[in-house]
Amino acid sequence: TMGVVGESGCGKSTLGRCLVHLLDSTDGEIFYEGKDITHLEGAALKSSRKDMQMIFQDPFSSLNPRMTVKDIIMEPMIIHKMYEGDNGQREEKVLQIMKTVGLAERQAEAYPHELDGGRRQRIGIARALALDPDFIVCDEPVSALDVSIQAQILNLMQDLQQSKNLTYLFITHDLSVVRHISDEICVMYLGTLVEKCPAKALFLEQFHPYTEALLSAIPVAKLGAKKQRILLNGEITSPINPQPGCRFAPRCPKAMAKCSNQEPELVEIKPDHFVACHLYDD
Ligand code: SF4
Repeated sequence: TMGVVGESGCGKSTLGRCLVHLLDSTDGEIFYEGKDITHLEGAALKSSRKDMQMIFQDPFSSLNPRMTVKDIIMEPMIIHKMYEGDNGQREEKVLQIMKTVGLAERQAEAYPHELDGGRRQRIGIARALALDPDFIVCDEPVSALDVSIQAQILNLMQDLQQSKNLTYLFITHDLSVVRHISDEICVMYLGTLVEKCPAKALFLEQFHPYTEALLSAIPVAKLGAKKQRILLNGEITSPINPQPGCRFAPRCPKAMAKCSNQEPELVEIKPDHFVACHLYDD
């Protein structure tokens, strides 16, 4: 699981949507299992979608209210001609996936509005699993749910990952969630990657000033414990027309002269720990 964190509007969801071609990329390249899939079209794109699926943030608006649970889960199979002509096998597969994600068989004929938020998100997960994908982009899959339901869904996703050997790109702004679920974490700021490392390492030591500020916002659940919160001042540069140099410079407490005219590159400053910041140029 690769976790992607960053404040709202930094481009996390855009990144996820570009990877599964829900949005066209305007720049860069996308490789999947060593193959360049940036400009896939037509039949090749359709076929690649079988391997790459997405779970959306809002389990209500991402489900068609006029379709039953069974029809929602079966729709990808129909589009991709899975078990073509064998409706019985499709229905059997739907019931099997429903069982896997913890939905009761009797809910197959229910509509999304008849179920609670947790069950709706289980439908979203079931739909993503319908084509037996290898890779799933999870775009804030638990942020619209109650905390108790969040834990259930996260545990379900981890169990599914083990049993089906899935790779997740897990997008969230919730640092405790990302810490719980990720093996590696990427920190994004205004459309660029500023730090990337194993999850454990990030919570032990942060190198980029933005990551430091982000993690300083995590509350400490201990009586009397004090934590120095780093408050960021300054304007956020325009994401459409960013200023030259480091995009974080107008808010960075450690900015230097070259930060405003030279864009820092992502470099490995420790084994498996990558940072884009001029503080580590040497
Ligand atoms: Fe701050 Fe400069 Fe590093 Fe950007 S490159 S994060 S402005 S120190």
